[in-house]
Amino acid sequence: MNEKIARFLAEQQPATPCLVVDLDIVEENFRSLTAALPDAKIYYAVKANPAPEILSLLNAKGSSFDTASVPEIEMALAAGAPPERISFGNTIKKQRDIAKAYELGVRLFAFDSIEELDKIAESAPGSRVFCRILTSGEGAEWPLSRKFGCDPSMARQLLIAASQKGVVPYGVSFHVGSQQKDPTQWDTALRTVAEMFRDLEALGITLGMVNLGGGFATRYRTDVPEAETYGMTILESLRHHFGNRLPETIVEPGRSMVGNAGVIQSEVVLISRKSANDNRRWVYLDIGKFGGLAETMDEAIQYPIMTPRDGSGDAEGVILAGPTCDSADVLYEKADYQLPLDLRIGDLVQIHSAGAYTTTYASVNFNGFSPLSQYYI
Ligand SMILES: *Cc1c(COP(=O)(O)O)cnc(C)c1O
Repeated sequence: MNEKIARFLAEQQPATPCLVVDLDIVEENFRSLTAALPDAKIYYAVKANPAPEILSLLNAKGSSFDTASVPEIEMALAAGAPPERISFGNTIKKQRDIAKAYELGVRLFAFDSIEELDKIAESAPGSRVFCRILTSGEGAEWPLSRKFGCDPSMARQLLIAASQKGVVPYGVSFHVGSQQKDPTQWDTALRTVAEMFRDLEALGITLGMVNLGGGFATRYRTDVPEAETYGMTILESLRHHFGNRLPETIVEPGRSMVGNAGVIQSEVVLISRKSANDNRRWVYLDIGKFGGLAETMDEAIQYPIMTPRDGSGDAEGVILAGPTCDSADVLYEKADYQLPLDLRIGDLVQIHSAGAYTTTYASVNFNGFSPLSQYYI
């Protein structure tokens, strides 16, 4: 384990479950993505982990912020970000929240329907808008397809409409799906976007910006491409589809900024079997799906789990579950998790790469369990 986090856990012995995030790693993640895509502006996806410590750090490094609600906008502002560096990237917004964002100075909005465009035109006149297009989400471990975005031909019509409604048709966005381990997935979308740029140009509408979304992977149980590989592949696609008229680009990384920076410490509450000849132990932790590990849904995100007894003897397959009274609170049953046979009740285990999409996914008080405690060091 990361030495800084290991030292903190050893010295402080915080109550479990808790998340400990090493801010140096967040800084390093920001640095490496900046180096990989030097011309792209980074809009950190606040939802991945909105801790003030993370927002302040990224703000100091010059990051911009992609937000999904008024409270997220207010968190970014509180961290010192000027409103010019904040986008309201959710395609599903209440009219009064658009008005509030506009009042707070935000001038960059996402949409994917005429209905949403009308809301923005009314409550945020003169703002820049970008239209999100659908992608397949193929190859992503946490796909974001279907719910967001519209067909490219509809997007083209909507951007034309935008120019007639008193907002600025500024660009196109897409998201290739979260934890997207295939960097070539950006290519398909970029081909479509470049076509849209050309078609609209012919109609007198010059778009300026491509929003490449998030999706950059963090390492869980298997290796993922480096930021540099994503950067090279995407730059190649941009050059291929846009030639020497490269548009302004935005990226919205969430997971890849914070995922590998956090470790959750958890305690083993129970180890048991369901019958005398049950060949798999059930290991119940003090954190589960409702305590912050929501992304284990369908066993999609598979966190590396370490115990103090790793390597000390034989390990065997287990079913991992959380502590709540909901039978859906099982973390891994199909995924092959093996834990040492001498694992004991009361042992502390570490769940790695848990910095993203955990603290805010924790339920408020289900079964009386507190939301996940967090430390930023
Ligand atoms: C969630 C989200 C992101 C962040 O995605 P990651 O896969 O975590 O990088 C970026 N943009 C939008 C619009 C999102 O909804």
